[in-house]
Amino acid sequence: MSTAAIIVAAGRGSRAGGDIPKQYQLLAGQTVLSRTINAFVASPAISEIILVINPEDMTHLDATVTLPSRPLVRLVNGGETRDASVQAGLEAVSATCDKVLIHDGARPLVSEGIINRVLDALETSDGAAPALAVTDALWRADAERITKTEPRDGLYRAQTPQGFQLSAIRAAHSEHKGGAADDVEVALAYGLDVALVEGDEENLKLTHSDDFKRAEKILGTKMDIRVGNGFDVHRFGPGDHVVLCGVSVPHERGLQGHSDADVGMHAVTDAIYGALAEGDIGQHFPPSDPQWKGAASDIFLRHAVDRAKEHGFEISNTDCTLICEYPKIGPHTVAMRETMARIMGLEVGRISVKATTSERLGFTGRKEGIASMASVTLVRR
Ligand code: MG
Repeated sequence: MSTAAIIVAAGRGSRAGGDIPKQYQLLAGQTVLSRTINAFVASPAISEIILVINPEDMTHLDATVTLPSRPLVRLVNGGETRDASVQAGLEAVSATCDKVLIHDGARPLVSEGIINRVLDALETSDGAAPALAVTDALWRADAERITKTEPRDGLYRAQTPQGFQLSAIRAAHSEHKGGAADDVEVALAYGLDVALVEGDEENLKLTHSDDFKRAEKILGTKMDIRVGNGFDVHRFGPGDHVVLCGVSVPHERGLQGHSDADVGMHAVTDAIYGALAEGDIGQHFPPSDPQWKGAASDIFLRHAVDRAKEHGFEISNTDCTLICEYPKIGPHTVAMRETMARIMGLEVGRISVKATTSERLGFTGRKEGIASMASVTLVRR
């Protein structure tokens, strides 16, 4: 069984100001909702995301949010109230899931650490939710005067995601009269036990326009830069040309492989998967699958580039080295860089293709095949 994440993003969020709902406003160059979705895409435990939206926001969603291809994202129309929206989300969860995390769309800075703490606690309880102990003194006051101090012992500030056994929270919501502040309130009213896990001060809910400034400050101090490397080899065989970095180069031999055997493009593709910790080409496009026989390798590269985008990363640059005695690569490097730049949607200046021989040593030196290595840098937008 697996876990679904319901992201509740149907609210109007008028307190944040601006012409469009806060979840579709930009936060350090990316919409709030994209950032929230990406936080769950990055968590391998989540098998599907239910995105609860206001149907009136469809144009904002289409214009500003790129939905990932994996995990599955299902769009659900929200209701009049938060409870109704969560219930609509709960109804949409697949039968293959037995647990659910319910998260505010306006908490884009949720960390993998919080998600994992909630999931771990859910192993042994009906529910689990993150919170922070109240450390400031608490007062009661009217508009002008402090009237009373209140003890803060045992008081916590609630956060999301709040996790539950799916059947338990479905039952709790169907019995609840409505008007709950969050799903823990619904769960407690039904008698579920809910474990407390450590929240995170940075997991703030964007409510007022000042919260956007605070979140941007937090993001500004968090550079997420990934480096990946790829290595590939293909053996020479019969043929009259080789395909390298998308360019057909005349040669007295060809390269053998299941696809077009573009050793350069394969190394760059694997470097991107590597930076994302998402395996390699063979896992995404198994050689045992006949549909990839003779395939042009730009399919693989485009897929890796799309995965990077779905994770919220931009490719900053790539550097690919081809290792062979023949054919001569130099005359073709400009065309190779231009071809890869077009496929990757990058400027040519961010793509390097160079070549070296191995001084006639080893299998490349004996002209048995071509090797290639590549590095790539990804930067979180
Ligand atoms: Mg290969």
